[in-house]
Amino acid sequence: MNVWVAKVIILLASIVMVAIRAPYGQRRRGIPAVRSNKGTLEIVLLTFAWLGFFLPLIWIATPVLAFADYALQPVSLFGGAVCLTLGLWLFHLSHADLGDNWSITLEVLEKHRLVTRGVYRWVRHPMYAALLLYSVGQALVLPNYVAGLSSGVAMALLVSLRIRPEERMMREEFGKGYQEYMAVTKRLVPGVW
Ligand code: SAH
Repeated sequence: MNVWVAKVIILLASIVMVAIRAPYGQRRRGIPAVRSNKGTLEIVLLTFAWLGFFLPLIWIATPVLAFADYALQPVSLFGGAVCLTLGLWLFHLSHADLGDNWSITLEVLEKHRLVTRGVYRWVRHPMYAALLLYSVGQALVLPNYVAGLSSGVAMALLVSLRIRPEERMMREEFGKGYQEYMAVTKRLVPGVW
């Protein structure tokens, strides 16, 4: 299959992802943080996340990762495009529900409110679920072992190492409210985990 189809899909998905996030990044700049848990681990995790975003773009634009290319299968491309679409949809919904409480790192913002409605009614980390779904889509669409798996590795690290400190921070901040929210929701998959 023509690899340009994969390149166009990945480029479009990256543009949509940036378009969804950009307005929230802009708004976040005007809201002061009252507490920040941005330590070394956060910096490492965010660096991996950026790599997971940019390596696919480097694969699209240059031949430097060509040594890790493999043949693209139509079934894989189709399945990946479905995962990317669903991931981006959930990414949009979770941003819309979190609104002014969104932050790229672990922070409590001024006038921070605990969100338990919308997609947050189903799981506590819908945005991470969206990013994992997106990563699976990218791995299936992008026929390159390095660029295709980069986002998956970054998100697996982020999810496995950030969820616990994030929930600790939220429990400390919102006390009983977050405890009760935890009692009725799962982390990433409704009714499972
Ligand atoms: N883990 C969530 C949010 C990711 S954004 C998700 O995957 O959907 C990270 C920021 O969101 C954290 O700094 C935290 O302050 C904030 N946050 C996480 N869960 C929240 C909730 N239920 N309500 C309000 N803010 C939340």
